Amino acid sequence: MVWTRSGFWPWRPSLLPDETFSSWFARLAAGNGLSPAELYRVAKAGAHPRPRDLDRYIEPDLQVTLAEHTGIEAETLRQTAFTRWAGMVFEEDDGRNKLYWLPLAGTENSKRSFGQQFCPACLREDDVPYLRLSWRLGFATACVRHRTLLADRCPGCGEPVQILRTMPEKAIRCWKCQFDLAHVPQGVEVDAGDLARQQRLLDIAAAGWTPLRAYGPVYSFVYFRILMLVFRLLATGHHADPLRTWVSKRIGIAPPNAPRIKQAELLNPRCRHELLGLAVHLLEDWPRRFVGACEAIGITKTNLIKGDRRYPFAFAHAVDWHLKDSVRVIRADEVRAGIAYLKGKSRPATLRALTDLFGVKPATHRALAEPATRQAPHGHGRYWKLDGVSSDVKLAAREAAIQSGESLGAWVETALRKALEINRTVTTIT
Ligand SMILES: [Zn+2]
Ligand SMILES: [Zn+2]
Repeated sequence: MVWTRSGFWPWRPSLLPDETFSSWFARLAAGNGLSPAELYRVAKAGAHPRPRDLDRYIEPDLQVTLAEHTGIEAETLRQTAFTRWAGMVFEEDDGRNKLYWLPLAGTENSKRSFGQQFCPACLREDDVPYLRLSWRLGFATACVRHRTLLADRCPGCGEPVQILRTMPEKAIRCWKCQFDLAHVPQGVEVDAGDLARQQRLLDIAAAGWTPLRAYGPVYSFVYFRILMLVFRLLATGHHADPLRTWVSKRIGIAPPNAPRIKQAELLNPRCRHELLGLAVHLLEDWPRRFVGACEAIGITKTNLIKGDRRYPFAFAHAVDWHLKDSVRVIRADEVRAGIAYLKGKSRPATLRALTDLFGVKPATHRALAEPATRQAPHGHGRYWKLDGVSSDVKLAAREAAIQSGESLGAWVETALRKALEINRTVTTIT
């Protein structure tokens, strides 16, 4: 690299509005004829050959070096990375723990992490395509400008965005297969209510605090921690399905179909978007609505509080004060009454129907329930079937669903809607 007399590097791009540190760093490298990894080694002697996610792991000495060679203030550079949200979205970053709504972008310990979302339409409109820091927030799932869901992976190969492994010149590409991310199919349209909900979350993050009903004003990072605890409950574990069903019925929508993966923060934007709607609903009127849902479904204190972890007071206290230690047991006579009720409505009294009716599985009297028949809905759980579809197509569909981060049922439905030209509409339960 040629150094000018002032010590400045020859090409010094300015920061674009809301640009991430990684995005700017990659442009800085490419403009000076280097790959981001090469520039990283120039700027940090003896550094690891491949930089980690620099939006999270931006080191103070790197900021200082870059400030000296580009003329951009080190503090300005700090504001382009996760440090901008310290004390707002998370309390502090010790560099070791997960940041709840800010998963890494790229591959960490050979696991893919989809922490950098993007809007293809925004990239197409940019004079210089670049990545936004606000696209990194896990609770931001839609582009406010285009009113569509964000994308978080390459449709060609399913890889996460890793701008530090590319040379961004006229386009931002998939590091692996070179797919131009501006040409990723645009996500589905998001309604005004959902956009307003996202804006409220962004406002809470910006304000640094929010009222939490019975608990008064709390720090925003406390709110986001509770939001994640409730979101996880909806996303994964054996209470996820009954809780989704319970909340969806109250809102009047069909329960979201999302794979129950353990690392809930890595769900794709569509799944996160739909589950966030339910989570935010449960946080309103805290803790009354949440407690009501837990009681109805049979979620107990022991399900929510694990001894070795720290919980925000507003969560731990609400759970401790309102919820019981153990599950309510449904008695045999209640199960019989439930069966009679369902039969009166000409509905099969299966275990699933009884569980929906009571909100909790009548575990000790499950033998009384009718066996589920062949009319069970297709596409549920892992034992999906489509009669007459060949096994290679089923396998390929399953692979495609996994690659797009969808549950099989949701993926098949989207594919069928597309083929049949049926628009995606919110199914309302009457
Ligand atoms: Zn956009
Ligand atoms: Zn790719």
